[in-house]
Amino acid sequence: MICIATALASCCDGSKSETPWIVDRFDDIKVIRYEVPGFDELPLAQKELVYYLAEAAKCGRDILFDQNCAVNLPVRRTLETVYENYAGDRTTEEWLALEKYLKKVWFANGIHHHYSNDKFVPEFTEQFLLDAIESIPVERFGELTGMIGVVCNAIFDPEMYKTRLNQKAGDDLLWTSSSNYYRNVRQAEAEKFYADMADADAGNPEPVSYGLNSQLVKEEKTDRIYERVWKVGGMYSAAIEKIVYWLEKAQAVADEPQKSTIGELIAYYRTGDLKRFDAYNIAWVKDTVSHVDFVNGFIEDYGDPLGRKASWEANVNFMDKAACHRTEVISENAQWFEDHSPVDPRYRKERVKGVSAKVITVAMLGGDCYPATPIGINLPNADWIRKEYGSKSVTIDNITYAYEMAAHGNGFDEEFVLRVEDRARMEAYGKLADDLHTDLHECLGHGSGQLAPGVKGGELGSYGSTLEETRADLFGLYYLGDPKLVELGLVPSFDAAKAGYAKFILNGLMTQLARIEPGKNVEESHMRNRQLIAAWCYEAGRADNVIEWVEHEGKRYVVVNDFERLRALFGELLHEVQRIKSEGDFEAGKELVERYAVRVDPALHAEVLARYRALGIEPYGGFVNPEYEAVERDGRIVDVRISYPADYVGQMMDYAKRYSFLPNVN
Ligand code: ZN
Repeated sequence: MICIATALASCCDGSKSETPWIVDRFDDIKVIRYEVPGFDELPLAQKELVYYLAEAAKCGRDILFDQNCAVNLPVRRTLETVYENYAGDRTTEEWLALEKYLKKVWFANGIHHHYSNDKFVPEFTEQFLLDAIESIPVERFGELTGMIGVVCNAIFDPEMYKTRLNQKAGDDLLWTSSSNYYRNVRQAEAEKFYADMADADAGNPEPVSYGLNSQLVKEEKTDRIYERVWKVGGMYSAAIEKIVYWLEKAQAVADEPQKSTIGELIAYYRTGDLKRFDAYNIAWVKDTVSHVDFVNGFIEDYGDPLGRKASWEANVNFMDKAACHRTEVISENAQWFEDHSPVDPRYRKERVKGVSAKVITVAMLGGDCYPATPIGINLPNADWIRKEYGSKSVTIDNITYAYEMAAHGNGFDEEFVLRVEDRARMEAYGKLADDLHTDLHECLGHGSGQLAPGVKGGELGSYGSTLEETRADLFGLYYLGDPKLVELGLVPSFDAAKAGYAKFILNGLMTQLARIEPGKNVEESHMRNRQLIAAWCYEAGRADNVIEWVEHEGKRYVVVNDFERLRALFGELLHEVQRIKSEGDFEAGKELVERYAVRVDPALHAEVLARYRALGIEPYGGFVNPEYEAVERDGRIVDVRISYPADYVGQMMDYAKRYSFLPNVN
């Protein structure tokens, strides 16, 4: 599970000058660079390990493009070829619109917005693109030549590939989603296919995550339904072979137990056997000693409307020892938090196992973590492994730091926070509250609780992701205001919780709407979860005016009047959401999500968008990676040098050349 930055904009204490942290801005996006403090001080063997793992992290990029939509690779490559070879005027409006479109495709890993899932609307004409293609020697396009029609339809026909991920109840979610996880398969057929598999596995205390690493296909002529597994020799083999190549190099320089762990991952990539993936995850979660660590694989299922198939992602990181104190204190007290959680005692974990939490410095982002990245990660995702072996939880400090640097002095607080005392608290404790909430969400929230006997964990279906994020967020929110945190020395007083609560409610009821296009509902599961919590608490506390809408000089503001009562409401809702998960109560989960998490008030939405526009803040952020260069002497690596390119387009064009291994059609 991942946690995405709640901070649309952080509090500031710095100057108002334009920051070099932002390297590009277009549409609703800002691209930021991040630094990797401590890399130069790593011993050579660890630098080398980071280098190899970083290469492995970049080799799966094409996989994600293809997973997101089957036409993404030809679209991207056609536009890149045009971008590289176009000899015409690069200052015209149409050219700039084409360039912006390509930047968006890179950012979203495809033709659909990374957050709203809607297809991008081009602001240049089909004729302009065709003329540009015509002006370039045909051999530059290679095999793309025969696909120009497909590419144009994908970009310009508004009826084709409308949304990457449709979650609208009642629709055939597979037939109406353009992602490439299912081909020619109806929702009912896929559900039956996997229900049969689960039946065959019934009673297995170690249930396999069926479907996680494959495309499900129905053959046109025979109606046979089968899986194309993502492995060496299977679908996406060309990219996976490169990943394995670099993992083997990493394995050669890693120490035990990591050496064996990497070996397990390689074995899984070679066989596609999901039992081996579980074995890898168990080895990975047990390893809490390796200084350098990584994620590499088919991990998160947010992109599949059925929540089964995982997108490819990677990151490479190492421990930030100094900052780890915070999460160490939290995980040392994990059992206390579990025992005092406001849920039904039957649904608490009797013994919390192996919650390991650390603060990390990210050294490379890849696949579904690039350019937009989570700021916290908790893995593995298989419930039974979490129960038996625990989970590893990380907070990515250099990324949140970069976000903060990029947001300095952007005027957000002044525009949206009405009360001076709230602003002052956010300024003093905003970052601390954010960090702690992420820690609590990741290292305790997702790992907390247990299922009732007989409940498997997949019962909540398409509402599962939203409800799981809701549960983790509520756990974090509830404990952010607990006196225990003061006692443990993690916060100076309840004021930190007040800062966090005010910001969370503001975001959930109001400012996160800046990320949604006019006329749309809330789709993304983390956004749904935040609105669910904020809207539920607003309604539940309405009689006591716990949360209040205030109109001031023609603008709307949301304020929290009673922070203690709000904390109690978080506890009440957590009790219910844990019950829903533990009992697999689909109907109650659906009711919560549909009633509170989805709908948008159009008038409020328009106001938020207008106020955002006036500030000139892009609602989304993502990152360019650092570059690593291996310095060799006599055939041996003697150093690895890091640099920080501030060139988004340059990095994307470079990746297209060096890390593009898959054919146009997979
Ligand atoms: Zn989460």
